[in-house]
Amino acid sequence: MPEDQRVEVTVPPFLGGLGVRKSWQKSGVNLGEILPDGWRKPPDERQNCARHFRPGSPPSGLERIVRPISAFLIVDVQNDFISGSLNISNCSAQQNGLEVIDPINKLLDTVEFDSVFYSLDWHPSDHVSFIDNIKQRPIHPTSPLNSDNAQVYDTVIFAGPPPMKQRLWPRHCVQDSWGSELHKDLKIVDQGIKVYKGTNPEVDSYSVFWDNKKLSDTTLCGQLRMKGSSDIYVCGLAYDVCVGATAIDALSAGYRTVLIDDCCRGVDVNDIESTKQTVISNNGVIVNSREPNFA
Ligand SMILES: [Zn+2]
Repeated sequence: MPEDQRVEVTVPPFLGGLGVRKSWQKSGVNLGEILPDGWRKPPDERQNCARHFRPGSPPSGLERIVRPISAFLIVDVQNDFISGSLNISNCSAQQNGLEVIDPINKLLDTVEFDSVFYSLDWHPSDHVSFIDNIKQRPIHPTSPLNSDNAQVYDTVIFAGPPPMKQRLWPRHCVQDSWGSELHKDLKIVDQGIKVYKGTNPEVDSYSVFWDNKKLSDTTLCGQLRMKGSSDIYVCGLAYDVCVGATAIDALSAGYRTVLIDDCCRGVDVNDIESTKQTVISNNGVIVNSREPNFA
């Protein structure tokens, strides 16, 4: 990436405060004020703290700042995305999902997160996202493709009601199949909590918080509330699909959100970049766990 598209960002207080991390930000966006020592400060940090600095039911804004409660959210590190039917290495970015396992395990071994969540894409056999189910539901007249010419990874519009855009994927992560299991090399911590998503046959669910139509939430929202979580560290598969959607929902729900770049692999290079851009412009932080002072 050209040098002018790189920007150094200060670490928000909840990450230790004094260190400096690198992140990515394309030119043309507000890079924030330049500090006396030459570092750029992201425009969002004070704003973000202020957003949390308000009285209310516990944890109050002040508590959230001085005593952050962390949740590590490992998204969909499942067989089908690594070596099964939706092996992401067959997608345009040709990234290898297996590569997230070592750095994630290392974080689990070295960082004392207050809670750890593992999400699982968990579809019934008649799920709307499977290309081989395309003839099960009527297509809307405005759909650019129909059930005869749509190919895998294309997007169609199902009739609904209401009409619903849906990207078509190979059959994957069918409940209780090998493909839906977490990869055997992923470390499962004792108190780890599994969250299942995509269980409704009629609607897909990229985010671990909500289905794509925001009709129903998973158990994650309640669990995070119960634990008083303030900061969410997100990683896993696929970067530009479920990880990105989860990070954006975490930000909109008011959590301080950190995306761990090297613990993610994705589908499409451009979509990965725009995911990063969206996370940054919504006050999220992107870090790399290999940086020496992360843990
Ligand atoms: Zn799925």
